[in-house]
This record gives sequence, C-alpha cells and structure tokens, in this order.
Amino acid sequence: MDIKELTCIGCPMGCLLTVKIQDGIVQKVSGNNCANGDVYARKEVTNPTRIVTSTVVIKNGNKPRLSVKTKSDIPKDKIMEVMEKINDTVVNAPKNIGDVIINNVADTGVDVIATKNIKRVG
Ligand code: SF4
Repeated sequence: MDIKELTCIGCPMGCLLTVKIQDGIVQKVSGNNCANGDVYARKEVTNPTRIVTSTVVIKNGNKPRLSVKTKSDIPKDKIMEVMEKINDTVVNAPKNIGDVIINNVADTGVDVIATKNIKRVG
C-alpha cells in the first residue's frame, strides 16, 4: 500500500489529503472536506493535469504581450514543452479573446487561446 499526501487546490481551505493506493488503484482518500477534494486527489495521483496560463509576444499591438491559456487541461508532464512553444510564439495584432494562438500545442490535442483583446496600432 502506497500513501501519498497532497494539498487540495480546489479552494482556499487547502485541505491536506491522504491518498491510499494499492497496485496503482486509489483505495481511499481522506482529509477532504468536500467531494471535490476526493475527485482532485484521485485525478492527481493517476492523471495529473493543469491549465497553463502565460503570455506571448504580439507585434503591432497596443500592448507588447498577449495573455494566453490552454483551452483545457493538459498533462502535467507536458507543461515544460508547452511553455517552450508559448515562449517561441510571436503573433501579429489584432487578436481577440478566444482566438487560437497555437493549434494542438505540443501534440496535446489542446489549443492555446487568447484571453485578452489586443488592437492593432500604426
Ligand atoms: S477538499 Fe474541498 S474544502 Fe478542502 S480544499 Fe479541496 S475543495 Fe476546498
């Protein structure tokens, strides 16, 4: 039996979760004060994922950088690769919220999208 301890990121309470795992299968989650903690713990120990938020360089815009995020969760072990793709990306203004900035980033099947509107200037 493996035991992992995690801090739940579901809300500011930050409950300390204890997860009992046998043969790769979660047997029990304790320490959670709501059902979301149970769901988070099971996912975190079997298939951890995250939304990535960042910015890319934007040319000819009224701001120098455009904020972006992955449209949905990506596997946690792909975060560095996704960040490298984001850091290498330069786009041209204008861009609007929801515009696809990187299609299928790092072969995750997830797009990186704009989260701000940037107007073209000049
Ligand atoms: S278990 Fe529930 S109450 Fe505790 S931190 Fe997670 S979401 Fe918040």
